[in-house]
Amino acid sequence: MVHPLDFSILPLPAHVLANLRQMGYASMTPIQAASLPLALAGKDLIAQAQTGSGKTAAFSLPLLANLNPRRLAVQALVLCPSRELADQVTQEVRRLARAEDNIKVLTLSGGATMRPQLASLEHGAHIAVGTPGRILDHLERGSLALGAVNTWVLDEADRMLDMGFADDIAAVARHLPPPAKRQTLLFSATYPPNVAQLAARYQREPVMVVLAEQHSQQQIEQRFYEVAEDQRLHTVGLALNHFRPDSTLAFCNTKQQCRDLVAVLQAQGLVALALHGDLEQRERDQVLVRFAQRSCSVLVATDVAARGLDIAKLEAVINVDVSPEAEVHVHRSGRTGRAGEQGLVINLASLDDMGRVGRIEQQMGRESRWYPVADLIDRSHGQPLQPTMVSLQILGGRKEKIRRGDVLGALTKDIGLQGGDIGRIDLNDFSTYVAVRAEVAEQALRGLNAGKVKGRSVKVRRL
Ligand code: AMP
Repeated sequence: MVHPLDFSILPLPAHVLANLRQMGYASMTPIQAASLPLALAGKDLIAQAQTGSGKTAAFSLPLLANLNPRRLAVQALVLCPSRELADQVTQEVRRLARAEDNIKVLTLSGGATMRPQLASLEHGAHIAVGTPGRILDHLERGSLALGAVNTWVLDEADRMLDMGFADDIAAVARHLPPPAKRQTLLFSATYPPNVAQLAARYQREPVMVVLAEQHSQQQIEQRFYEVAEDQRLHTVGLALNHFRPDSTLAFCNTKQQCRDLVAVLQAQGLVALALHGDLEQRERDQVLVRFAQRSCSVLVATDVAARGLDIAKLEAVINVDVSPEAEVHVHRSGRTGRAGEQGLVINLASLDDMGRVGRIEQQMGRESRWYPVADLIDRSHGQPLQPTMVSLQILGGRKEKIRRGDVLGALTKDIGLQGGDIGRIDLNDFSTYVAVRAEVAEQALRGLNAGKVKGRSVKVRRL
């Protein structure tokens, strides 16, 4: 019997199904099962889906099905709120497109240098993935044409609007064929009125795909601690050494508070990094790589900096400062609670914060649970919480034609590490970042610096 969640019930060619099996996609995720039959039938969709739900494949398979590989023109456009998300979407589309010959996917995101994008555009592409501002920039320069687009995807539409991209989206839309001549797929975690307006404006009789609440707030444990203002930052360290979560996102209301907290945590021997608007793009990328590679225990961020952040669900979120807006609190909290597991949100509130806490209680429809700070017992036994992994940076990336396999090969065959010692490998044009277990970091560092990657000596440093 064919299972109803089996990809083979979909009208997809055999080589695409084989590729999905190779990618380890055994069965459809709920959002895929709900949207793929409709999208592959050519319908416009409004799909309510979160990161991690498999939404990327839910729009990528239809856009690939609409594509004519023999025609070298941009036939699919995916708009994303952030560069990180655009990079992730590009990677997923490339993997899904492997079944087809030579489909070219370009990322056109703000924050990246213009010249390589212009050069790649001259060679032509089938699919463009990018942020609205940069896509518009290319349209205005004449380096990108969208007249041949037959699939338009708005990914994380709510976040794009939150970030003020509405005008850019409207300007991009003027360069596209009209709604009747294209398929428009809108994905959004939430469905506020401004997203509904977007749908009304750009879609043709869209079908709404809503799943049963996937992330109930009940699955998130909220703990409130009352702190004196001068104890706030110190208490974050106490909470970390008490709960010992692998990865924590700590929210502060200001950049200065982020800097201060990182200084306090680092002084306690914890590995914490700040993410705020003053970082250069390169620094921001490195911070995110380290956090994703689990070589940094705590990422300390402002709400603005964390917007568009595309990271897996975390063990814990700490609201170092109470947000003045209750919706922001709910959004912050939603970053925790991995699939099926309970998430932990730690809230630090001073007496002055009680008005804000009251608004949060109203928004969430339940009372806060308070715990005494004295309950936060240091369980570190002199060993402050340490990340399990260390990130190594190899100076050399895609430009040197380094691939993940080259790094894996050097670490396992030449240096003798086990597969389990090696974590994520992230590549960009000029650098390769590899996570290795802390216990073998020295061995890996020395081995890589003494040996070769892809037949060449490389410089490697510990981040
Ligand atoms: P997304 O929500 O698109 O960011 O996807 C989350 C993760 O799930 C990605 O790493 C995908 O590669 C993976 N994924 C998507 N669909 C499936 C599937 N049907 N089976 C297994 N993994 C999947």
